[in-house]
Amino acid sequence: MNQREAATHGGETHTPDKRDFDIASLRGWLAHLSATGRVATIDKPVSLKHELAAIAKRLDGKQAAVFLAPGDHAIPVVSGFMSKRAWIAEAMGVAEKDLLKRFRDAADNPLPWTEIVSREAACQQVVHTDGIDLHALLPIPTHSEHDNGPYITAGLVIARNPRTGVQNVSINRIQVHARDRMAILLLPRHLHAFQKEAEAAGDALDVAVAIGVDPLTMLASQAISPIDFDELEIAGALHGAPLPVVKCVTNQVRVPAFAEIVIEGRILPDVREAEGPFGEFPKYYSAQEAREVIEVTAVTHRRNPIYHTIVPAEMEHLLLGAIPREATLLSHLQRSHPGVTDVHLSVGGVCRYHLWVQFAKKREGEAKNVILCAFGAHYDIKQVVVVDTDVDIYDPAEIEWAIATRFQADRDLVLIPGAQGSPLDPSTTVGEPEDAPSHLQGISTKMGLDATRPVVYAGHVFTRVRIPGHDAVDLETLTAADNAAFDTYLSQS
Ligand code: MN
Repeated sequence: MNQREAATHGGETHTPDKRDFDIASLRGWLAHLSATGRVATIDKPVSLKHELAAIAKRLDGKQAAVFLAPGDHAIPVVSGFMSKRAWIAEAMGVAEKDLLKRFRDAADNPLPWTEIVSREAACQQVVHTDGIDLHALLPIPTHSEHDNGPYITAGLVIARNPRTGVQNVSINRIQVHARDRMAILLLPRHLHAFQKEAEAAGDALDVAVAIGVDPLTMLASQAISPIDFDELEIAGALHGAPLPVVKCVTNQVRVPAFAEIVIEGRILPDVREAEGPFGEFPKYYSAQEAREVIEVTAVTHRRNPIYHTIVPAEMEHLLLGAIPREATLLSHLQRSHPGVTDVHLSVGGVCRYHLWVQFAKKREGEAKNVILCAFGAHYDIKQVVVVDTDVDIYDPAEIEWAIATRFQADRDLVLIPGAQGSPLDPSTTVGEPEDAPSHLQGISTKMGLDATRPVVYAGHVFTRVRIPGHDAVDLETLTAADNAAFDTYLSQS
């Protein structure tokens, strides 16, 4: 049933549309991309240091890159298999315009996972527990020029709340700096709260890092959900079936059974080691700091696993963060302002900082309320532009046109200095980032632009120029003839 039919059948919106390909694992999706000309296979040996990421970056947004001979490894590396909005919509089984609605429906109707036994779990076909050497086992790339070595960039970090047992899923950057030790960045969200709780009790926090899952499970991990809300249940809803999970071999964490590779371990209490620098999503480096440490207890994987790496700040990375955020921001804004019809985190604003809002304004002043509401939704939002419903918010030129013709800075600009912004935005920090204590980092001025036209206006002033029939022109049929007639005409002079 398609999305429209689903909506008229008693809101059974967690039933996904029928897809003619297998999305239950990364393999199904890669086979579908390959069958439709969207995989570039590189079979010549490439270095894990910079060369692999350089090639993947060149292909980002065009084709998924598959490296058959990365470093000295027999395990292929894949990158960029969800680097276009249209591909992500396709994986979800909806039209691009229904992406956010579909994600929100899944987040509102989570499906609990189902546990299977180890011998049936693909991710545990091969188990390593002794003498683990991550560098020898896995092809982990070093991406950017000043990165401090190899980083796992596409690992789903799964942990259990030490008090409630409910799991959390997030993607954290992980620096692999020893055979069985990794440093991890914990931003002040759910995994960080679990770690603080365990550390206060003097305990390690058991974790698992799942690498190589399908696009839907990747997206679900980025949902902005309350604490004690297992993101794997959103993945189940996106799949339209409970996610099969399996218990780790060295701890109680449940991981997607279809994952290509799982690294099991524990975040050690009261241990910090140097992490960074690392090139992050704003296309700048994070400085080296002392971070939490994972001690690895096992590596499990499929018989012939595939390793996934995300090239930082490229489209796969940006879209993965943008779509779940947009879905959350849209529902947040619509709660107070039903006239909000769509939102978009622009690519130029690194899919985090600049929010474009399409809004059916009914009364003067409302657009400024929408701006204030957006700043309250997430500290990353730095600039908000509100436009009317005739403006295409997925086209940067349309946004600039709206600002050029419907915005006056003395009347329509909202500035809020001294607010908290993204600590990764380098323009927020005064002086050297390393010098600023953490409570002084990320101080930012919010800027809102009301680029809506007045509710009431004289027709000749704000009526957009339109040529009747423009949208209905069937160019393909009209231009089917060759130029022979015209060429003959030209030659007659
Ligand atoms: Mn969470």
